[in-house]
Amino acid sequence: MGNLLTTTVKSIKVNIDKCIGCRACEVACSGFHATPKYSSINPERSRIRMHVDELNDMYVPVLAGYYSAAECSGRHVYVIEGKNYSECSLCRSSCSARSLFKEPDSALPLTCDMCEGGEEPMCVKVCGPGALTYIEEEKERREEGAAVSEVEIGLQSMIHRHGLQKVMNTIARISKKD
Ligand code: SF4
Ligand code: SF4
Repeated sequence: MGNLLTTTVKSIKVNIDKCIGCRACEVACSGFHATPKYSSINPERSRIRMHVDELNDMYVPVLAGYYSAAECSGRHVYVIEGKNYSECSLCRSSCSARSLFKEPDSALPLTCDMCEGGEEPMCVKVCGPGALTYIEEEKERREEGAAVSEVEIGLQSMIHRHGLQKVMNTIARISKKD
């Protein structure tokens, strides 16, 4: 059994009752992650996306979670305070069934990185109505084997999209240039 470690767990609490659907969070996140920083704004590159249904007065911010190569079978509808939310619209995964949380040019999966560990995440900073709250908690957990790295997740996604052989050929070609 591994050692007991204390880690700081960072999370963002979402209060959908306070969200007004202004989309400032999408703007701030995509600007922060542009290269160079703040050089462009494109909500499709944001790691937080709004699920908006104005007719039913529904505004739900969803933060990008992890990549999933498989499409799930979840088609449930959740009723929260009298409003219907489909399982897919609340899901945080970048999955093969939809274009949400994928970099628009490369289709690489986008994951919320808590603004690279900055003091206060950009989306929280710009959310005037206070729908997003940044939380830091100390938690104990058992030490595990090496976590899956971002590089591995990116490669898995590329292999799923282009096939293993094409990805290997491309890596071999790029390595020869270096
Ligand atoms: S915490 Fe940072 S990376 Fe995550 S959704 Fe908010 S702005 Fe984007
Ligand atoms: S900035 Fe806040 S209020 Fe505006 S859409 Fe995002 S979560 Fe909702």
